[in-house]
Amino acid sequence: MAEIVIMPKLGFNMSEGKLIRWYKSEGDAIQKGEPFFSVETDKTNMDIEATRDGVVIKQFIEEGETLAVTLPIAVIGDKGENADDAVAEAQAQLGKTPEKAMKKTDNAQVQTSNQTLSSDYDIAVIGGGPGGYEAAIKAAQMGKKTVLIEKNRLGGTCLNVGCIPTKTLLMSAASLNNVKKCGEFGVENVEINRAGLDMDTVQKRKNSIVDQLVNGVGMLMKKNGVTVIEGEGTLTGDHSVTVNGNNITAENIILATGSESKSLPVNIDPGMKVITSKEMLDIDNIPEQMVIVGGGVIGVEFAYFLASAGTKVTIVEFLDRILNMVDKEITDMVTKQLETMGIEIHTSAKVTEITDEAVVYEEDGTEHKINTKIVLMSVGRGPRLDGIDTKKLGIKTERGAIMTDEHMRTSIDSIYAIGDVNGKSMLAHTASAEGIVAVENICGIDSSMDYGIIPSAIYIEPEIASIGMTEEQAREKYGEVSVGKFPLMANGKAKASGEERGIVKVITDLKYGEILGAHLYCIHATDMIAEMAAAMKLEATAGEIAHTVHPHPTISETIMEAMHAAADGSAINF
Ligand SMILES: Cc1cc2nc3c(=O)[nH]c(=O)nc-3n(C[C@H](O)[C@H](O)[C@H](O)COP(=O)(O)OP(=O)(O)OC[C@H]3O[C@@H](n4cnc5c(N)ncnc54)[C@H](O)[C@@H]3O)c2cc1C
Repeated sequence: MAEIVIMPKLGFNMSEGKLIRWYKSEGDAIQKGEPFFSVETDKTNMDIEATRDGVVIKQFIEEGETLAVTLPIAVIGDKGENADDAVAEAQAQLGKTPEKAMKKTDNAQVQTSNQTLSSDYDIAVIGGGPGGYEAAIKAAQMGKKTVLIEKNRLGGTCLNVGCIPTKTLLMSAASLNNVKKCGEFGVENVEINRAGLDMDTVQKRKNSIVDQLVNGVGMLMKKNGVTVIEGEGTLTGDHSVTVNGNNITAENIILATGSESKSLPVNIDPGMKVITSKEMLDIDNIPEQMVIVGGGVIGVEFAYFLASAGTKVTIVEFLDRILNMVDKEITDMVTKQLETMGIEIHTSAKVTEITDEAVVYEEDGTEHKINTKIVLMSVGRGPRLDGIDTKKLGIKTERGAIMTDEHMRTSIDSIYAIGDVNGKSMLAHTASAEGIVAVENICGIDSSMDYGIIPSAIYIEPEIASIGMTEEQAREKYGEVSVGKFPLMANGKAKASGEERGIVKVITDLKYGEILGAHLYCIHATDMIAEMAAAMKLEATAGEIAHTVHPHPTISETIMEAMHAAADGSAINF
């Protein structure tokens, strides 16, 4: 029996849909599952498949027409079937349709200047790191036809040569350190003096974890229906990208091309082995000695790893302290702890040359030399613009980074830029959050980034995690502030864990108790900072967190205690 096909309701709020394409014409045979027509709503374009085999007997609307949901748009029947009744019924329903329910679009070809509904995709994402791949998933989940272009491996820097491999190596270092102190816990018969890292196993474990996660991203792409193209994407216009010699068009393009390691503009003798974090992650044996140029997060994490494994490490830092973005009180503690591990730290030290046998630097107006066979260059990362000729395309940049507004839109309306390439906050979770903001805005949802409440984490032991303003920044902005602190040595679980180094510090404003910043230097800090992120997002006060019951015994109690100190002037257990 002939079937009346209706304008589908594709979303909770959808009241009408525009038919943008018929895949079949009257008289054509059609099979169940074949695309029959394509509908555009305010949020998405979607192909609608036939739900039965048959022949297209009648089509009631033309491409470009808009119709209220559930009204008939076609009749499908068997070949040779008399479907007059179904056609008449459909026409009757359409006859009852108020005039405004069906309206012809201004341009029946649905073609606008550069933006065409015949675009290959709704969204094209260039770069498959945590920014790009999460944006692609979100876009597909929001009904957008999405393509992701990646020239290397899915997962980008984060999964392949950044967050995950570093943390895998650092966990090996942490395990070694645990073995070294296992006697304290009553573990016996361990030859602690012989404990060390077998780099072959360390590397195999790291590579296997990276592969699992990269494959997982591939599976997520398939599951969400994202088309993945391997190859370097070249942005050729406001709506077009070339990859592997093919031109792809998309209504919107998201640039997520990441960043790359920077080097120092000094003379570097080719005879010296100078490596970046990328090569460092693949080292197959632990060097006796290493000079690390740059005491930022990456430099300090590798310093910690190497020193744990037995390397004599020297850090040379241009600024007056390492981890300059961290609250100074905590940096001072970390510096002491790293020095206790045997790491030599030179601050306010300007590297002037790297010869074939030494790193040369100036400190206090005097030239110094550290002899070494290998140097890790970790002086920061800069946006990567491979395949993006910003000048030619008229995309505005600032100090090499693509400029965006708070919706992640670049100076070209149809193009967004997320993650490291926009240089705002070079962290994986920022990239992912920005990707979601970009997609939501493309889909008509007004969302934006709040860079004031992005947590950051450093994975040495004890861990460091921060959010919001440092004490110095808060005092500069607000004058008087309240600072609540709680030392880990007064926490039961920290004692039981044998890791009672560190402090939890919160900074709040005096008027409302608003949380301005939180700085954790303790075991589990990188997980616990999420509580502070949620509290700040929800604009919770110090008093509210102090009165939030935290489980005992946990390290998280230190946050509650620090909040008591900030809100009431004193912690309970210290
Ligand atoms: C050693 C190290 C440790 C780190 N640890 C942490 C951490 O613990 N926590 C944290 O939050 N952040 C960490 N980061 C930073 C984090 O890795 C980045 O902030 C994050 O990966 C940025 O994501 P993204 O999507 O912007 O770019 P990326 O991850 O760099 O991905 C960009 C992708 O785009 C691809 N690409 C570039 N140009 C093109 C083109 N024209 N066509 C096709 N593909 C292209 C690249 O191949 C790459 O895969 C670390 C970084 C390093 C180097």
